[in-house]
Order: sequence, then C-alpha cells, then structure tokens
Amino acid sequence: MSHPHPTPHPHQPIPSWFPRGVALLREPTLNKGTAFTLAERDALGLRGLLPAHVLTQEDQVARVLENFHRLQTPLAKYIMLESLHDRNEALFFRVLTDYPDEMMPIVYTPTVGLACQEFGHIFRRPRGMYLSLDDRGHVGQILRNWPQHEVAMIVVTDGERILGLGDLGASGMGIPIGKLALYTACAGIDPGKCLPVVLDVGTNNPRFLSDPLYLGLARPRATGEEYDALVDEFLDATQEVFPGVVVQFEDFANHNAFRLLAKWRDEICCFNDDIQGTAAVTVAGIFSALRVTGRPMREQTFMCLGAGEAATGISDLLVQAMVDDGMAEAQARGRCWLVDSKGLVVAGRGDLAHHKKPYAHAHAPVPDFLSAVKALEPTAIIGVSATPNTFTEDVVRAMAAHNERPIVFALSNPTSRSECTAQQAYEWSDGRALFASGSPFPAASVRGRHFVPRQGNNSYIFPGVGLGLLASQATRATDAMFMAAARTLATTVGESDLAQGSLYPPLSAVRHVSAQIAAAVAEIAFAGGLARIERPRDLLAYVEGLMYDPRYPVYA
Ligand code: NAD
Repeated sequence: MSHPHPTPHPHQPIPSWFPRGVALLREPTLNKGTAFTLAERDALGLRGLLPAHVLTQEDQVARVLENFHRLQTPLAKYIMLESLHDRNEALFFRVLTDYPDEMMPIVYTPTVGLACQEFGHIFRRPRGMYLSLDDRGHVGQILRNWPQHEVAMIVVTDGERILGLGDLGASGMGIPIGKLALYTACAGIDPGKCLPVVLDVGTNNPRFLSDPLYLGLARPRATGEEYDALVDEFLDATQEVFPGVVVQFEDFANHNAFRLLAKWRDEICCFNDDIQGTAAVTVAGIFSALRVTGRPMREQTFMCLGAGEAATGISDLLVQAMVDDGMAEAQARGRCWLVDSKGLVVAGRGDLAHHKKPYAHAHAPVPDFLSAVKALEPTAIIGVSATPNTFTEDVVRAMAAHNERPIVFALSNPTSRSECTAQQAYEWSDGRALFASGSPFPAASVRGRHFVPRQGNNSYIFPGVGLGLLASQATRATDAMFMAAARTLATTVGESDLAQGSLYPPLSAVRHVSAQIAAAVAEIAFAGGLARIERPRDLLAYVEGLMYDPRYPVYA
C-alpha cells in the first residue's frame, strides 16, 4: 500500500506516480488483474504479464464465487477472501458489497472469531498496525510508518474481550480488520482512509502464552499505569499524526471499555460500537416493534438479560427514547431493568460494578430471570448475556401471558450463544412474538404463519455513523447521533417487512440505509456546531458522493 488511494471513477487519466508492470500487479489497491484492458496493458507495461483474455470485473466475481463455494469450511473461505483482499482490493469489496448475506458472516462474526483464535496459524501477510508495550515513547513516530497519510477511521482493540471468546491478545487483530471491511462494504468508506490497530498489551490466554506461533507479546496482560500509558500515548498520537481521525473502540473488556469511552469521548471524535452501536441497532428494532404493537415508548418496560456493555448501552439509549417521548429521566430509568448472573440488579446489592448502578432500582432481590419477568412484567426482553437457552419456554410463555405482542430480542452471538431460536420464540408465543436476533436465523412457520426474522446487526449502524462523522468532519461522536441513527434505521423498515415479522430492512439494502444514517448523523454535527466544514446544500447527495465504489476505474 505504497501509493495514494484513488477514489475509483470510471475513466481516469493515468497518474504520474502510477506503478508499472509487476509492481502494479502486486499493488492490491490498484490491481485489476486479468481485467486490465488491452490499452491499459500497453500503457502500463503489462503486456505479456497477463493471459490474453481480458475479463470484466463481473467475470472475476463469478470466478471468486466459484472458488468460494468449492471450499468446505468457513475458515477456508475466510482465508480465501483475505488473500483476495491482499491481492485485489476492489474485487474483494465488490464481492462483499454484492453478496453481503453470504460474505458478512465470513469476514465478520461468526467466522472472524474462529480466524482470531487461529490467527498465528493462518497468518500470511500483515494488515493494519500492531502497537505493543515495547513501542511506548515512540508511538507517534511508528504511526508515521503507515503508508497512507489521510487516515480518517481507526478501529482499535486491545484483544481482551473478542466477541464472546474472551482474551485473544494480539490475535484479536482480525476484528478491526473485519470491522473496517464492513465500513467500506456497508457505507463506502474509502479503504485507503481506514486503519486497523491492535494494542498489544500481552495476554492472559494460556493457550497463546504457550503457543510458539502466537504472534503477540508472550507476557501477561498489562494493567494499571503500564496499560494506560500505551493507550493514552496511542490516542494522543492518533490526533497528532492523523488530525481529526475518528477512533472506534472495539472489544475492550468492561473494566476498560466504559472507562476509556468516558475519558476520551469529550476529547476526540470516538465511540465504542459494543456499547453505542449495539444500543442504536436495538432501539431501532424496538421502534419497529412498537409500530406493530401501537403502544408508545413511554408505556414500555424493558428487561435485559446481561448487564455488560451491550445491556447498559441499550438501556441508556432506551432511557433517552422515553425522555424524547415525554417522560422524566428518572422515571424512564426506572423502566429499564438488568438481570445478571446473580439475578435482578437491585439497589442494595453490594457487588455491583459502576456501570450497573444507574439501573439498580429499589426492589426485593429476585434470584433468576424467569422470576424477574413474572415480577416486573416487561413488555420487551433483550438477551445480551452470551448465555444460550436462557429464554426458556417458561420465560417466553410468561412474556406472552402478559403481552399481546411480546418483544423478544435474543441478541447474543454467535448462534450457539443465542438465548433462544426464532422458531422457539414464535412457537412458544403462539406466533405473537416480535423477534430479532444477533445471529441470523432461517425463516420460521408457526400455525400456518410464515415469519422472516432479521438480525439486529450492528452493521446497520456503525458504517453509516462513521460515514456521517467523516462527511461532516465531526469533532465529537454524540449520543444524539446514535439516536438519530436508530430513528433513521427504523424509517427504512417498510410495512411489508413488518407484515412478515421483520423488524429490520434486508441486509442487501445496507448501503442505502448507511447513506441515510450518515446524512442524519452529519445533520446533528452541523446543527450542534460539531462539524468542521460548511453544510452542503444537499446533504444526502453529498454523502453518497463520498462513497467508495468498488468498480474498477478505466485508465485512459
Ligand atoms: P459483556 O461481557 O460486556 O456483558 C455480558 C454480561 O452478561 C455481563 O454483565 C455478565 O455479568 C452477564 N452474564 C453472564 N452470564 C450470565 C448469566 N448466566 N445470566 C445473566 N447474565 C449473565 O458483553 P457484551 O458486549 O454486553 O455482549 C454480550 C452479548 O451480546 C454477546 O454475546 C455479544 O455477542 C452480544 N451482542 C450482540 C450484538 C448484536 O446483535 N447487535 C451487539 C453487541 C453484543
């Protein structure tokens, strides 16, 4: 990646810095492989370096798909796609953009989890930046080693809580790589402006510590001042080297995630997708569900199973939605309940982590989820505990007993962690549940009715939010922006979606959805004085104009 990244446009002049010959074929950001035209081959010293038949990008996509389908395991498919990413960036993104339903579960959850677990063993080429404890004192200088100078979007992890898989140390790098691929595929963020980063602070994973192929620092995870020194130096350096760059925190463990967000959100343009992106996609699903029930936000009672990043982020945004609907904040907070492994989170429990306290309401102790559902009669239950089969038949039946249309969101990933399946939710509620899930479930039939459940997938939110921040050159990412993203996503759900039980639009619409979200987010930045450019007259057109197009340019 040694050249400025051109935004592809059909028919471009050949820039003066363009590499020629083999160097061009080995430059993934410019390579078109067998799709270089005869004229390009002449002009760029490629004659004889490629077979005679000139393919179209569509032909190449067909070939990629043929090979993809031949492979037997998701991990093999992941390796194949990443090799393509390393060879021909535009083709990789074309495949991702055109086939999101098939490709997203490979480049991101659930397969990316497997890829991270095997990271040192499937490693081929480095991608992104690896900053370790050994780099302290030099982080700014090291960031300047990155070949692109216009980095606008960084996704960073310290690898401590990768998906539901725990501490994967530097092997967690697959997550920022996968996430940024989705920023480009789902919202057209220029891949040349994206930088995946892992902060290697060691790992407490015994398997990695004894694995000679583990690629990170083989030492126990740093904590306290040692940890903070690297993170702080990194975040300061991002702004110095790439002024105004957006930083997205990803898969940090609870004890750092909340703390880092609180510390940095008013200093730089940053957000945590596990907390804020999850919240927005969930609240959007709730807005859709309420269109079906016909009941307003202020009449709802929400109960999350789980009390971590997802649960508290979701609850915070639900409170805001109820406040927007005319409720006092304290009252709204009282409508959101959390249940963790020790039962209902209530005031007086001595063991509560800081982030749970705003939802520790006065109530007698309740030991388990079913009892909590019976005691508080929520209108919606939201599973974010990464513990499977916890929305039992009794739980769903209890919900169906006190709600005409019970809202049941089983959001834990991957599929093996889901609180219940779509089929179970529909069956146990006699087809009345309004269901969404974290991982995809097939369509279900109950009592002759056909349901198409859809995923409350963060990919509907973070790419559009990122694009909106970039488009407005926002100085901060605010909660109001995530609320705007949730409301905008909800507006993209049609009556025909709702009629078949879908609370989200189809994934194939994600680029359109992202553009709308980006415009809404940018609007908040402009209205709040957080933008660094003047507001374009047609914001949606402006945002759409910024979106990377994976079609090849034709050099003439
Ligand atoms: P987290 O580690 O921050 O929180 C998990 C919480 O679950 C903790 O509070 C923990 O105490 C609680 N918990 C653990 N076992 C429990 C049990 N038996 N009963 C009740 N609570 C229990 O993780 P997170 O970031 O909040 O993510 C949680 C889950 O949600 C994961 O499976 C993740 O994949 C999923 N998630 C889904 C989406 C989505 O679908 N859009 C987004 C984010 C997270």
